[in-house]
Amino acid sequence: PFDVLVVGGGPAGASAAIYAARKGIRTGIVAERFGGQVSDTVGIENFISVKYTEGPKLVAHLEEHVKEYDVDVMKAQKAVALRKTDAGLTEVELANGAVLASKSVILATGARWREMNVPGEQEYKAKGVCFCPHCDGPLFKGKKVAVIGGGNSGIEAAIDLAGIVEHVTVLEFSDTLRADVVLVKKAESLQNVNIIKMAMTTEVLGDGERVVGIKYKDRRTDETHVIELAGIFVQIGLVPNSEFLRDTLALTDRGEIVIDAHGATSMPGVFAAGDVTNTPYKQIIISMGSGATAALGAFDYLIRR
Ligand code: FAD
Repeated sequence: PFDVLVVGGGPAGASAAIYAARKGIRTGIVAERFGGQVSDTVGIENFISVKYTEGPKLVAHLEEHVKEYDVDVMKAQKAVALRKTDAGLTEVELANGAVLASKSVILATGARWREMNVPGEQEYKAKGVCFCPHCDGPLFKGKKVAVIGGGNSGIEAAIDLAGIVEHVTVLEFSDTLRADVVLVKKAESLQNVNIIKMAMTTEVLGDGERVVGIKYKDRRTDETHVIELAGIFVQIGLVPNSEFLRDTLALTDRGEIVIDAHGATSMPGVFAAGDVTNTPYKQIIISMGSGATAALGAFDYLIRR
């Protein structure tokens, strides 16, 4: 068996694998897509000590760093189950049927954007339906867009986009905006931002090639409205990639893995790090730190066994 088996190859998983391997213990890393969300990121300006880098470049550096050590890297492999054996090992079952056993496991499966689940969304992904204002905002220069969601990320996106695009409509499902007051005030002060509450998005409209509008229902009057626009930024939250852990570990009601200060989960010998956990902030530098914490936590666990 492995001493430490890391599930996930984003910044948290890469960091955990390096920290574990540096202890000279048998380390493996299983990743569906090495690099994780960083692979989808364009400019990165807040990875401290590196003034500017780009997602694919950082992913290449992560992989290069992992390969400096004796780490068994298993790419394009998806974990589908986790369980304890009678011997006290933890088994990770992969989608291809293989089962990997390890004395300790670090879960670093990250998160993904929550989708609206309305007709047209899948069809027009990357054809007007976007999830990252920092990445795709400039594509809509001088055009009209909508932001779905009035939480911090939605309002931040609206403020950010207002400086680039012609007009931003924010559609919020409830009757209140969950974003911080300072952000709401800022957004409301902008001439080209319009915020509509009690609005339920019902359809993404397209011409076969690209998005041309959005349909929403006014939840107060039940009337349906159409806004003509070129882009839709969906900002309704991050979903942790923890479905396969349901009923196995303690998760928050949002599905985030609950960890303690050592990165330990509710299952002995199983640690977690990064965006899949209940850490309040989801960032590259934070994921890397928590990956290091989880690896040191796992090492502490192993030497006490
Ligand atoms: P992820 O990066 O999500 O990696 C998860 C890993 O687990 C992947 O390898 C994935 O394939 C794998 N995985 C998932 N499920 C399974 C499974 N069942 N079995 C096996 N493997 C699995 N942060 C910043 O600090 N600065 C930025 O500028 C920035 N910009 C961003 C831009 C975009 C578009 C996005 C999407 C995010 C951005 N972030 C940024 C956030 C940052 O990317 C994340 O906080 C960080 O990547 C989280 O790292 P992670 O390792 O926890 O998870």
